[in-house]
Amino acid sequence: MAKRDYYEVLGVDKNASEEELKKAYRKLAKKYHPDANPDNKAEAEAKFKEVNEAYETLSDPKKRQMYDQFGPDGPQGFGGGAGGPFGNGTYTYSTGFDGFSDFGDLGDIFSSFFGGGFGGNRANRQNGPRKGNDLRYDLEISFEESFLGTERYVTLNRKETCNTCHGDGCKPGTHPETCSVCHGTGQIKQVQTTILGQMQTMRTCSNCRGTGKIIKEPCETCKGKGTVRNQVRLTVKIPAGVDDNQTIVLKGEGEPGENGGPKGDLYITVHVKRHKIYTRKGNNVLCDIPITFTQATLGATLKIPMVDGTEETYTIPDATQTGSKFVIRDKGFKNLNGNGQGDFVFTVQVQVPKRLTSEQRELLVKLAQTMNEQPPVKKRGIFG
Ligand SMILES: [Zn+2]
Ligand SMILES: [Zn+2]
Repeated sequence: MAKRDYYEVLGVDKNASEEELKKAYRKLAKKYHPDANPDNKAEAEAKFKEVNEAYETLSDPKKRQMYDQFGPDGPQGFGGGAGGPFGNGTYTYSTGFDGFSDFGDLGDIFSSFFGGGFGGNRANRQNGPRKGNDLRYDLEISFEESFLGTERYVTLNRKETCNTCHGDGCKPGTHPETCSVCHGTGQIKQVQTTILGQMQTMRTCSNCRGTGKIIKEPCETCKGKGTVRNQVRLTVKIPAGVDDNQTIVLKGEGEPGENGGPKGDLYITVHVKRHKIYTRKGNNVLCDIPITFTQATLGATLKIPMVDGTEETYTIPDATQTGSKFVIRDKGFKNLNGNGQGDFVFTVQVQVPKRLTSEQRELLVKLAQTMNEQPPVKKRGIFG
């Protein structure tokens, strides 16, 4: 089933501010909250999920930019994917997910739906699942590669789950023990007597450093950390039409999450090298094509080199002026959003010959005698 446009789902226009998005989201989340729709729970739940997915993407500036560029399916399966808080159609969430602080007073909606705990005491989250760190990578590609699309290898040094202990940091065959000081909560209650009465504060347990676990025999490979640094090589598909400074997201290719949280993502920013003859404007390819003044005067059939290495023939009319632009349709960059393609636009530049044979000079002199008038100065021609 085709996904509905996220902006449409939230009923806002493409330029909606963060505030407008939040407002629209809040209204719809309340409307479709399954508890508020006891008669058609299933339908409300589907809508509720759709609204959540749309907001999850559009409320994150980076994801929103990606969505605007690539649409819901994106080049790498972008969208409310498995790593997201509402991924895979289940209403699970990771308490450490960065985006949640944005929900603010929406906590009431969620706490009832998710069975409480949402937006709860931050201190309680230390033991909860946490999403791994996102990583960034800058990738330089050629103009041709951005035009045709390509596959590139990216080598990066990243934290990965230790293979020996599968992340728990314990020597194989042993298991982490529950911290006896905090009984596994990672937190210690402190009661202080002040002039206002007894104050209760929570602090991180120093015995287990907040993890709630004690590793008696650490894994030798990772020294008990649960992660190791590895050199990894990834294949990155660069879609045809990608522009300079656009970002490709590889979901789940960041650092491992903690306590069962999802992996972070890898953000690859593409840098397109300048080309000697082509430039890009929107999805159009621009190019200067030199012609002789006789070609300009009499008209000519030109061979125009395309970015993909092929040639197009194009006939320019007689009396073509220098600086005239011609368009070869659908030979520009592919539109990343799906259908459509830009154009190839070339500008002819009339070249004045630097050297002439004596015969050519003689012919030219004869020509000049027939048209030896200086052209009139156009009123707006020079500065206009
Ligand atoms: Zn290990
Ligand atoms: Zn402890």
